[in-house]
Amino acid sequence: MDWTKILKEVDPETYETVQNELDRQRNGLEMIPSENFTSPAVLQAMGSILTNKYSEGYPGKRYYGGNQFIDVVEKLAIERAKKLFGVPHANVQPYSGSPANLAVHVAVCQPGDVTMGLELTHGGHLTHGWKTSATGQLWKSVQYHVKPDGYIDFDEVRKLAQENKPKLIWVGFTAYPREFPFEEFSKIADEVGAYLAADISHISGLVISGAHKSPVPYVHIVTTTTHKTLRGPRGAIIMVTQKGLDKDPELADKVDKAVFPGLQGGPHDHTTAGIAVALLEASKPEFKEYGQQIVRNAKSLAEELMNNGLKLVTNGTDTHLMLIDLTPFGKGNGVFIQDALETAGITLNKNTIPNDPSSPFYPSGVRLGTPALTTRGMKENEMKIIGKLISQVVHTAKDYHLPENKDERAEYLKKFREEIKNNGTVKSVREKVFELCKQFPLYPGLQ
Ligand SMILES: *Cc1c(COP(=O)(O)O)cnc(C)c1O
Repeated sequence: MDWTKILKEVDPETYETVQNELDRQRNGLEMIPSENFTSPAVLQAMGSILTNKYSEGYPGKRYYGGNQFIDVVEKLAIERAKKLFGVPHANVQPYSGSPANLAVHVAVCQPGDVTMGLELTHGGHLTHGWKTSATGQLWKSVQYHVKPDGYIDFDEVRKLAQENKPKLIWVGFTAYPREFPFEEFSKIADEVGAYLAADISHISGLVISGAHKSPVPYVHIVTTTTHKTLRGPRGAIIMVTQKGLDKDPELADKVDKAVFPGLQGGPHDHTTAGIAVALLEASKPEFKEYGQQIVRNAKSLAEELMNNGLKLVTNGTDTHLMLIDLTPFGKGNGVFIQDALETAGITLNKNTIPNDPSSPFYPSGVRLGTPALTTRGMKENEMKIIGKLISQVVHTAKDYHLPENKDERAEYLKKFREEIKNNGTVKSVREKVFELCKQFPLYPGLQ
């Protein structure tokens, strides 16, 4: 039996859709900063028969029999995570980043306790207490902000912490282009006796490669997704630091209990295997080089965008991502720029900018980053080319503006899409993107 042809025979519709997505990934520039291309080895682990097993509990303490090999896999992932990040405890079972962050709340807070996180529209994450997330409904979240210059407002953070005495403070962002200020947060958390949790979902690959400072000396808990710069399968890890154990000797136990049985059932063992593989790959010298190159690429791209007349929040980046501030061209036009770039084969996302004059659904910025392109092997030279292409598309689409009257919006968007499809600049950029992608093949040999 040829295992590579089975899906095609059993379910041609699903197979074809997967192939279409593979073509899309191959023939476009993936610049959403939270995305990446995981390795063939990780893909193979994810597609393995480990998905068949139930293993509620933890290695050596399972509720089902037959877990001798699952224990080996989970212990591999745990030990590799501990060693790579330099922490005494790691839980690799959270299904993804959001459940991991919910588990941290459950571990250290009682319902109704006060927490603190950066507001979503200023670059925080939903699960740091935003009102539409359970983390903002079951706990009383006080949200802090960035200043008009895009940097964290520490006067506000300290004032809110002292006034509200939170039990848990989050430091960690989805759209913050500068180094995460763990040290400043640790002083404030220590002053008010709060648990400090660093959510390094976006930057964990940079932390491992030394391209970003590690939160471990400063915080009690670290959470990270495993599928962003870490380049593994979709999943998450919660870690407890020595500082965390010194504050609360029960902390590791509380975290484990919050994940299982608090919130989850059986762990996704095939994902655990994928995490183990990704962590092994991340321990190699090539990964260090990868993380450093992500940042070099981002800095080079940022410079090119600014040289071509675009404004960036904080005027640049220290990390893998940047935010283009589109307010010089009006407000609420992120959606037009996202769409025009997508038509040109460049995928990124509309995003609010600090103090956005519009709304989260029609924000005035776009967010983009370099992790996935760097995985494809692109370097500074390609970033210069791509920076120019992006700028050309932005300048050709910058005069589209959202009608104030809501009833006119659907019609206007339709007309915009039609015009963009036939726009000469967009068409020529699409061709150049296609050529560039061909020079950096993705998953060569995969059919
Ligand atoms: C992506 C992300 C998450 C959530 O991860 P999911 O796997 O999408 O649930 C949480 N926090 C931060 C900072 C993130 O960037």
